[in-house]
Amino acid sequence: MAQLYFYYSAMNAGKSTSLLQSSYNYQERGMHTLIFTAEIDDRYGKGRVASRIGLSSSAALFNKNTDLLNEIDIAHIAQPLDCILLDESQFLTREQVKQLTYVTDHLDIPVLCYGLRTDFRGELFEGSTYLLAWADKLVELKTVCHCGRKANMVLRLDAQGQPFHDGAQVVIGGNETYISVCRKHYWQAIEQGCQHAIFGRSV
Ligand SMILES: [Zn+2]
Repeated sequence: MAQLYFYYSAMNAGKSTSLLQSSYNYQERGMHTLIFTAEIDDRYGKGRVASRIGLSSSAALFNKNTDLLNEIDIAHIAQPLDCILLDESQFLTREQVKQLTYVTDHLDIPVLCYGLRTDFRGELFEGSTYLLAWADKLVELKTVCHCGRKANMVLRLDAQGQPFHDGAQVVIGGNETYISVCRKHYWQAIEQGCQHAIFGRSV
């Protein structure tokens, strides 16, 4: 029986690297994969998943209106697929996560979703909410805070390097940056706006 996986983490924990490695593992055995990424992420050009260590692959795009079940079904008829991989899966809608459970249960294709658990406000994304609820396997990909603890929170910093945690969940083309920190240093940064909390040193 195929299963639905959710590989979740904070920022910069190597999600895309892990996705590309998994896809490669199938392909080197002569098997076929289909990779999706969110249309919102155009860091590496349209329809591409790229890792920070230099690996990349072309990918189909999804947005909130994409019928993933239909697209996967059509692709699967043209070329039988052995695995579906989705990057930026925090941006999936509830309906799309439901479609992926159908891909797993009715088309019997394993589906590997990679994404952030929470946004910079510490709130679940819609896609992450339903993947946490419905996936067969939950796998945490870990990265570390400057203090050495597991970094499970994402901080958004404005152009001046100050943290803030209100406003829209997704901002495109702003001057802000995102860093991953542990929960202790997340709240410390939010409450005190303290650079020491963010970088582990006085600025
Ligand atoms: Zn920390």
